[in-house]
Amino acid sequence: MKKITILGASGSIGGSTLDVLRLHPDRYSVFAVTAFQNVEKLERICLEFAPEYAVMVDHTAAANLKARLQQAGSSTSVLAGVDDLMSVSQHDDVDIVMASIVGAAGLKPTLAAVKAGKKVLLANKESLVMSGKLFMDAVKASGSELLPTDSEHNAIFQSLPDNFSSIAAAGVRKLLLTGSGGPFLSTPLEGLAKVTPEQACLHPNWSMGKKISVDSATMMNKGLEYIEACWLFNAKPSEIEVVVHPQSIVHSMVQYLDGSVIAQMGQPDMRTPIAHCLGWPERIGSGVASLDFLNMKNLTFAAPDFERFPCLGLAMEAFAAGGSYSTALNAANEVAVDKFLNGELPFNKIGVLVADIMNDWSLGEPDCIDDVITADQVARQKAESLAVSLCKAL
Ligand code: NAD
Ligand code: MG
Repeated sequence: MKKITILGASGSIGGSTLDVLRLHPDRYSVFAVTAFQNVEKLERICLEFAPEYAVMVDHTAAANLKARLQQAGSSTSVLAGVDDLMSVSQHDDVDIVMASIVGAAGLKPTLAAVKAGKKVLLANKESLVMSGKLFMDAVKASGSELLPTDSEHNAIFQSLPDNFSSIAAAGVRKLLLTGSGGPFLSTPLEGLAKVTPEQACLHPNWSMGKKISVDSATMMNKGLEYIEACWLFNAKPSEIEVVVHPQSIVHSMVQYLDGSVIAQMGQPDMRTPIAHCLGWPERIGSGVASLDFLNMKNLTFAAPDFERFPCLGLAMEAFAAGGSYSTALNAANEVAVDKFLNGELPFNKIGVLVADIMNDWSLGEPDCIDDVITADQVARQKAESLAVSLCKAL
């Protein structure tokens, strides 16, 4: 029986993880679940899965949850605050950590799990984008098993040979990172100033949290994933190509030197990569139906349009620039997406805000995680004040 901590259990990935765990009560038990402040959701999860701990970042929400669980006769202990996200990630009794907090808030708890040598299922791409080399160094030092849960990276992982050590040794020519292009793939460019958060969050194929849905609409998600792939597979920028594939059936591919291409295909449903990571190296059921090839739409592939999706190009530039550019890019994007979701920034200014932060960035390579967090905070403050002037200029 493996014990699992689910960071971000109240979210979209958290829910899909619980769906898979529900199918395998003989293999996995839930050790801890965490959420920012959604009391009702965490209460339901605690009553069904009876974890040892539930952590709420928000202290008032934690007090509420505690009262409700006590009344229901639950044995789950409720903890509160950011530090306890780390306690339940690195706890001696935990075997597996699902890292599915959204955004920079996932960095410290995900890294705590890595440093404690856990099997870590990485959905929280922002933590790796922010801290790149330091994160991968920590994986090596602790011997943690880092399994890519993001569907594209999971597809690449599945399409690479077992015991993959490097792109060159595996005879790989390129990693082909697919992306749907999101809901605005063919919206007239001049219409992008007016799109609403509801439209941006209506992804054609995937059902996801709001932040990643907006990232998919700007293709910043693919940019973050490009950086994620460079770190996970130790690939050079010239070894990764982004391919727009609107049907989201081919989740990514590996092109080999001999001309072979190995792809992983499946329904656009995160339960598949989650089950793959949970069971790895075995295969376990996910509850996802098989593809029906006889009734499938045409599969199409195209080059990305960098004018429509400037965020994709910005992310590529941030990785190439090194230093703490990727940290700044991620922080500026989080601020911009938040402002867009709150109706304070037009959709087409997300890329403008990120570009402005990048153009004015001067902090160097982080030596430690505290440096990463400082870079993140500096970029956020700059982005906050820039957003105000961008909005005034409208
Ligand atoms: P979501 O918004 O649905 O859920 C986010 C979770 O993080 C919630 O449990 C929330 O309570 C928690 N959270 C939010 N802010 C927090 C904070 N400050 N401190 C601690 N916890 C906090 O997001 P999601 O769609 O499940 O995405 C989670 C992560 O997985 C993201 O990094 C995303 O990029 C990645 N991912 C998601 C999908 C998907 O299909 N949803 C696919 C691939 C990767
Ligand atoms: Mg993805």
